[in-house]
Amino acid sequence: MKKVVSILGARPQFIKAAVLSRIIRDQKQFTEVIVHTGQHFDKNMSDVFFQEMEIPKPKYNLNINGVGHGAMTGRMLEEIEKVLLLEKPALVIVYGDTNSTLAGALAAKKLGIKVVHVEAGLRSFNMAMPEEVNRILTDRISDLLLCPTNTALSNLKNEGFDHFGSKVVLSGDIMKDSVAYYSKLSDEKSGIVRSLNLEHNGFVLATIHRQENTEDLKTLKAILEGLNSISADTLVVMPLHPRTKVMMKKFNIEFEGLLIEPVGYFDMLQLLKHCKLVITDSGGLQKEAYFNQKPCIIARKQTEWVELLEGGFALIVGSDPVKIKDAYTYYQENTPDYKLELYGNEVGLNMYREILNFLA
Ligand code: UDP
Repeated sequence: MKKVVSILGARPQFIKAAVLSRIIRDQKQFTEVIVHTGQHFDKNMSDVFFQEMEIPKPKYNLNINGVGHGAMTGRMLEEIEKVLLLEKPALVIVYGDTNSTLAGALAAKKLGIKVVHVEAGLRSFNMAMPEEVNRILTDRISDLLLCPTNTALSNLKNEGFDHFGSKVVLSGDIMKDSVAYYSKLSDEKSGIVRSLNLEHNGFVLATIHRQENTEDLKTLKAILEGLNSISADTLVVMPLHPRTKVMMKKFNIEFEGLLIEPVGYFDMLQLLKHCKLVITDSGGLQKEAYFNQKPCIIARKQTEWVELLEGGFALIVGSDPVKIKDAYTYYQENTPDYKLELYGNEVGLNMYREILNFLA
């Protein structure tokens, strides 16, 4: 039976891979070996997702973390190459836009192994973002590019992908399947809303972790000021990413809402279901807000998920505290119309079929 190797390393990749990995196991037409690069390693940034989402234990854990971008990507490249030489897969699947994505794609490509990129074609057009560099380079060396949106498809067209010999497909966004599949389970398994006493009063769910927001003190302070201005009106609940935690502690930045540790996926889905609005710089959470019919305030200068802006499901505010508060007020008075269906249907199965065809 043919074998594929999936390269995972960061929280959003576990969530995306859970769906496809389950379909691969159910369909039994090829086997999957999972490699965990170790980029995210805390129990609540990694293990919890493998347990809750029943992702098979990785056969390899490379344990590469805690170093800068260059060292991390370089070490991953070296170690993934060793794994690929041992496993000799028919193809390698990489997800999203992290250092693990780029290292996995590059290691495979240099060995002549075909590369599938899940979540291809997204662009922020901001090359200062490490994720933008990773995704552009990964797309260019991938053989099968699975695009979540029409915009992603046209981004690739504009970059000349019609002439690169790779296969570019509109598959839809796999996070749609992930929310649909795990939502009911989270109703049964998560007690976070009750334990935090969030049942009766509306609350705002916030996550902030992007490098552009956490590394610059002025930017981080401004976003927190915006969140604090909302706290006067509504409780803001913020599961705190380790990177943001370090910066807030180091610079003694005050937060007037409720800070909690990063939560597992089941808890996250419950927070999404019960909150009244989301404020985030996360890519994944922007769409999860939409899937749960919650407006989203994006604390970034751009988004790759432009259809959310076009449909009025999200507003971009950067790090300006006044804009954050104004956007909050706007959504207190205006409810987006969620009838418009974005991001495709049966996405995991679409992807699976494309991969199967590609293996044939
Ligand atoms: N997430 C989670 N617990 C948290 C914060 C986020 O389960 O405490 C999930 C979130 O629901 C989404 C994914 O992690 O599915 C997004 O990951 P992240 O924001 O780290 O990365 P991005 O999507 O920005 O690449």
